[in-house]
Amino acid sequence: MKIDEIFNVYQENIMPTYNKVPLIFVKGKGSKLWDIRGKLYLDFFPGWGAGNVGHCHPKVMQGVRDQIGKLIFVPNNYYHPFQAKLAKELIYQSFPGKVFFCNSGAEANEAAIKLARKFGALTNRFEIITFTNAFHGRTLATLAATGQKKYQQGFEPLPEGFCQVKFNDLAAVKAAINSKTVGIMLELIQGEGGINVADKDFVLALRKICDEKKLLLMIDEVQTGIGRTGKMFAYQHYGVIPDLITLAKSLGGGLPIGTLIVKKELGDTLSFGMHASTFGGGVVICRAALGVFKAIEQEKLLKNSQKMGEYILAKLQLWSKTFPIIKEIRGLGLMLGIELSIAGKPIVEKCLARGLLINCTHENVLRLMPALNISKNEIDKALSILEQVLKECGV
Ligand SMILES: *Cc1c(COP(=O)(O)O)cnc(C)c1O
Repeated sequence: MKIDEIFNVYQENIMPTYNKVPLIFVKGKGSKLWDIRGKLYLDFFPGWGAGNVGHCHPKVMQGVRDQIGKLIFVPNNYYHPFQAKLAKELIYQSFPGKVFFCNSGAEANEAAIKLARKFGALTNRFEIITFTNAFHGRTLATLAATGQKKYQQGFEPLPEGFCQVKFNDLAAVKAAINSKTVGIMLELIQGEGGINVADKDFVLALRKICDEKKLLLMIDEVQTGIGRTGKMFAYQHYGVIPDLITLAKSLGGGLPIGTLIVKKELGDTLSFGMHASTFGGGVVICRAALGVFKAIEQEKLLKNSQKMGEYILAKLQLWSKTFPIIKEIRGLGLMLGIELSIAGKPIVEKCLARGLLINCTHENVLRLMPALNISKNEIDKALSILEQVLKECGV
């Protein structure tokens, strides 16, 4: 297909649900991407959060290639060694318990919500407290959990049983808890909401309240998971063990997977026939996910994520002193946000024109989430482009 024809097909035949950039990528390797014309880009936002090991990581590709030559699909009423291996790895990396496999972040959160409801059914509790500027997905229940009007408008009525309170506001949480409350669900760093980091005291207090009132502490690690913040999971920075976490995005190394991990006591809450997903934890994707863990371990990517995160953060903090348009720098590891006093979109576009892909979330927060194997060289290159663009936009 010719380039114009491709754009035309999208116009005519694909629903316009995405705000699209007129770019056609055809090849990727690490943090490099090539478009159809052969132009090279440096990707500081790989896969919208799904690219923690970069594009086409050899360890991911190797497992996938090997599996595709043998068997692509095994229905979930049978066993498979690689699904077992991935489950074991996920539990090893998190806490003793059980996993449920699905295909996306929304589905993982949907499974978490269903599990919480089942858990609460015994005591007639179903309400889940979530937070302002949260993002938990686009299915009806996760949309209700997300609680942002701009995503919800026109899709009412949404499932009941969710209540939103201010992020990092313990008094608001306490005031919202009632006899129907069964859980508290949050991202430890709100990704779509503007890179807002949960306070440590706040999270410790949530754990305490959940213990006292027998509520589930439900952590959405869809964006923060798999090394993004410098530890395998963001909750590991906080000194708490959640009752459950949800994962997706980068777990599949670029292929779709979602996972709900629950602590041991909750492991049999959803039993035979209560939940399912035809493609959940497919064998090809399990191979890809095992490749992701292998890459993280063998290439010491948690350490690199910490180190490179600190390297970028130090530079950004210097900038915040010299650029009046920078209001605040936030984040952890390689999940970083630059809050601006102006709209971020023109900056993203200018970076793109110079071959750098970044993102803007929540209107005015530039979001940098490079692959965990990003090099210092690549960072220097990206930051020099961004610095130049900020200079041009700041006057
Ligand atoms: C992206 C995201 C989701 C939704 O994941 P999908 O795979 O797009 O359904 C849920 N929670 C968080 C924190 C996310 O960043």
